[in-house]
Amino acid sequence: MPVVDLKKCDGCGLCVSVCNNSAIVLGNHSISFLKNKECDWCTLCEAVCPTGAIRCPYEIVTAG
Ligand code: SF4
Ligand code: SF4
Repeated sequence: MPVVDLKKCDGCGLCVSVCNNSAIVLGNHSISFLKNKECDWCTLCEAVCPTGAIRCPYEIVTAG
């Protein structure tokens, strides 16, 4: 799953709204990733986060 730095997260909820897999939930001014949900590593959450709190540290590289 992506990694969230909760110190940077301001709870805006943008990442929750872009996740197509409902893998992110917004709690009390912070988010968490649901490990039982499919994350297809689209990195949308990382792209949309205005504070840079989410990182997708592994990239899927397709050969060829
Ligand atoms: S990488 Fe994509 S699927 Fe995974 S948690 Fe972020 S928005 Fe959801
Ligand atoms: S988009 Fe970033 S700042 Fe907003 S709730 Fe998600 S992790 Fe937190």
